[in-house]
Amino acid sequence: MKLTILGSGTSVPHPERASPAHWLETSGGTILLDISADAPHRMAQESLDWPGLDAIWISHFHLDHFGGLAPFLFGLRVPQAKSRTKPLRIFGPEGLRHIIETINDSNNYKLFEQRFAIEIAEVAANAGFEILPGVTANTLKTPHTKESLALRLKDEDSKPFVYTSDTGFSEDLAPFAKDSRLLLMECSFRRNKPVQKHLELADAMRVAQECAPETLVLTHLYPEWDHIDLAAEARALWSGETIEAKDGLTLGM
Ligand SMILES: [Zn+2]
Ligand SMILES: [Zn+2]
Repeated sequence: MKLTILGSGTSVPHPERASPAHWLETSGGTILLDISADAPHRMAQESLDWPGLDAIWISHFHLDHFGGLAPFLFGLRVPQAKSRTKPLRIFGPEGLRHIIETINDSNNYKLFEQRFAIEIAEVAANAGFEILPGVTANTLKTPHTKESLALRLKDEDSKPFVYTSDTGFSEDLAPFAKDSRLLLMECSFRRNKPVQKHLELADAMRVAQECAPETLVLTHLYPEWDHIDLAAEARALWSGETIEAKDGLTLGM
């Protein structure tokens, strides 16, 4: 698998960190992990094959993770995507179909009137499914919103990849992320987090200590991380490899 960070930030507008979006190449095709409003243009900026994207994963319905879906579907109705025939699969929590259909119907956007099929699949918490051919996925309910899910992926070529998306601390995170080649974990705050539904550094490193991923990438970074050496602070709490997510960073695994 190969991961490209498109957006390492949050809902807060930031000059260097777009809102959450991560491009993952697997043996079964490409998956966009969360689709912020910035995501459609960030895919183009990184010269990624956005008209050929195979699947989208939506972790929860906060707009910094979901706000680009309607604009992206609207954008696929253009000449650059006209040769596309394969379906686009969109996976997310229960309620996904209702929310996107409501947006579509609000102004007759014709988001589903494409030359190819759009397949929406609502996924339960703590379930397993095939996200792309030969790529298995498992979900974990996370303490963030009522629908929020973490995702664990395994393809034919690589060891498991895990994406927490937004989450508060949970004892379930480390077992879920066990034996991962790469753990992409949120680390919203440095310390004294103002809300329980996100992680601060000590929470994230407690998870890392317990599950010991080969590589830990910390993302969803609020502006309070600006000008802080996140990786150095992480190393003081866990000796494994920790990488600070940055927009445009590409990691093979
Ligand atoms: Zn978020
Ligand atoms: Zn959120």
